[in-house]
Amino acid sequence: MTQADPKNFHIKSFGCQMNVYDGERMAELLVDQGMSVAVSGEDADLVVLNTCHIREKAVDKVYSDIGRLRRKDGSSPMIAVAGCVAQAEGQEISRRAPSVDIVVGPQAYHRLPELMELAKSGKKALDTDMPAVSKFDVLPSRGKQARPTAFLTVQEGCDKFCTYCVVPYTRGAEISRPWADLIDEAKALVDGGAREITLLGQNVNAWTGDDEKGNHQGLDGLIRALDRISGLKRIRYMTSHPNDMTERLIAAHGEVAKLMPFLHLPVQSGSDRILKAMNRSHSAQSYLDILEQMRKVRPDIALSGDFIVGFPGESDQDFEETLQIVRDANYSQAFSFKYSPRPGTPAATMAEQIAPELMDERLQRLQALLNEQQYAFNLQTVGRTTDILLERQGKLEGQLLGKTPWLQSVHIISPNLKIGDLVEIEITQAGPNSLTGQIKERLAA
Ligand code: SAM
Ligand code: SF4
Repeated sequence: MTQADPKNFHIKSFGCQMNVYDGERMAELLVDQGMSVAVSGEDADLVVLNTCHIREKAVDKVYSDIGRLRRKDGSSPMIAVAGCVAQAEGQEISRRAPSVDIVVGPQAYHRLPELMELAKSGKKALDTDMPAVSKFDVLPSRGKQARPTAFLTVQEGCDKFCTYCVVPYTRGAEISRPWADLIDEAKALVDGGAREITLLGQNVNAWTGDDEKGNHQGLDGLIRALDRISGLKRIRYMTSHPNDMTERLIAAHGEVAKLMPFLHLPVQSGSDRILKAMNRSHSAQSYLDILEQMRKVRPDIALSGDFIVGFPGESDQDFEETLQIVRDANYSQAFSFKYSPRPGTPAATMAEQIAPELMDERLQRLQALLNEQQYAFNLQTVGRTTDILLERQGKLEGQLLGKTPWLQSVHIISPNLKIGDLVEIEITQAGPNSLTGQIKERLAA
């Protein structure tokens, strides 16, 4: 039987950082309603699965999770499915998984309290609207932060319609949040203890808005304004689209010291033929040209990317061109995926779908090359002195984990430091996925 009057909750976010951000905002909303955070999923009266629809595997995971949700006493918690699966599948979710009480899309989660009231009275509660009133206008303001690193969604939705991607359908049209709201939220995050802010958007570098003087600004302008918040030490942004990579944003990397030398710029494929079929509207060469410009102003920039292997029609030659662009671009880390046909997208019905075994083989070859580059990048930082922001406890006694400006994880042992400290270290060792460092000194607060 479903929990009659949920007092505590557990939110599980899948997928991208934007979902992590939404999960945090939902948690703040529920706390604002007088609920508390449950110790674990099994203790929770309300479980929110904040879902991802980007690949089929992610969707399957949601349904298998729903099936396994039980409280310690064997009863079923109130279950809410939020995020992109909720948006894409709507009522179908309650049909496939009758134990689900609430289905709420990514633009409607500010209505969770009302939907819970409906669910309490035994009704199925569904809201997948893309309302005219933005959720951001009604969510409680940001408070004390659990971590020194915070996410701030500045832009949502996408109008690019890459032929493989569900985002334009699940997250809606591209919108930029207003300048003043973002400055206020960033200040509140810093007042709440954040020392690093990552600006988020499906195409974060497409953000535009008018500043307080009415001047039109791009993401570079917003970054320069955030640079003036004194308690804020580091700024990052992701994910960027090559077509929205302006000269001004590139220039900001050479001028704004708080802007970290890290760029997540997905290319997806190195073959112009495939890029065209993907509707990416950039070429392999135009992507490399952006990197050249970026490395002129910020030679140490660490590059990250996303890749899809096995897009319909991808030939051996196309795949070789993907390996070639990886060699030319040189990544410090990257995400790579097998193409997953998404219902309703143009690519799902294209001829020449690639066999799963061939996709596996290509993915393995691509990942071997990307891993090699990541390890080489890590090795090359050994002996360097740099600052790290301590983010969490490590597994060993006195161990802390921090991030370099290039977004590498570093382990240090120091009983005298705490989470949130920005410290100078020397990198002493590198592994494929993380580094070891030794403290030099604590940087001025
Ligand atoms: N807007 C960003 C861009 O265009 O680079 C990416 C956003 S998307 C949420 C994150 C990544 O998921 C994409 O860069 C792409 O590599 C991957 N992706 C999206 N749709 C996919 C699909 N149908 N199959 C496999 N990977 C997919
Ligand atoms: Fe999806 Fe393409 Fe939009 Fe990125 S740019 S969110 S991959 S449609």
